[in-house]
Amino acid sequence: MTSTITHIVLFKYRPDITWHDFEAHFASFTGLQRKCLHPRTGKPYMLSMRMGKNRSWEPFSKGMTHGFVLEFASQDDLDYYLTEDPVHLAFSQAAGPLIEDSLVVDIRDGILFGPKAERPIGADETKGSCHCGRVVWAVKLENKEHVLCHCDTCKKLGGGPYSCNQIVPKEDLKILEGELNTYTYKGASGKDVRCFYCGNCTSHVYHHQDAMPDKVIVRTLLLDGGSDMTAGGEIFPEGRLKWVRDLADSLQDGLVNGEKR
Ligand SMILES: [Zn+2]
Ligand SMILES: [Zn+2]
Repeated sequence: MTSTITHIVLFKYRPDITWHDFEAHFASFTGLQRKCLHPRTGKPYMLSMRMGKNRSWEPFSKGMTHGFVLEFASQDDLDYYLTEDPVHLAFSQAAGPLIEDSLVVDIRDGILFGPKAERPIGADETKGSCHCGRVVWAVKLENKEHVLCHCDTCKKLGGGPYSCNQIVPKEDLKILEGELNTYTYKGASGKDVRCFYCGNCTSHVYHHQDAMPDKVIVRTLLLDGGSDMTAGGEIFPEGRLKWVRDLADSLQDGLVNGEKR
């Protein structure tokens, strides 16, 4: 039998919160146990919830003023609560401005060794991985399309006729596992561009340009389902290789794996 997961949350609230804000916040927090419904059963799935103000006289609270102890039947249920449950997500969004600092620990009673739980890929995210598998990431894409770049740098770095990308806000890319090496070069703008790649297998994960500091350029062909994504646009079209223009047509009569079609 697998034991339940206890989700322990400590909050330090902002000092300028009004009583009205506090009351509304605690009322909606308390309501989560009843309102958060399991996607399959449609029934409440939070097994228990305890909350209260810190009353410890010891000097170890690190400024945390309130504690919340929530119990879930499984990691899957907790993952759903954290990443997808619309009721909890709406609550979190409303609570965000009230909270100055927080501390979160999840435990399984009696389990004292072993790895952390794997961060789930959110419903609005796509998972990516490098060739060797050491680096894993998640990215939010507004639409699942490649933007082809025909610039000379992409040809040199990738060894192909073009690269497949999408530009996303920096915070929409999360590196979940592994470490990235960096290669810095001067972009067309004259400013630095950093290429982040797996130090083991050299797969390019993303680029960051000083010319657009809040965005990153992710390599979309390394994403799960990347081969099924369509090409939705292109940049530096003047660099497009002649035979790329009509690739499907020009290959009609060509050889496949050295043999006639
Ligand atoms: Zn790798
Ligand atoms: Zn390029």
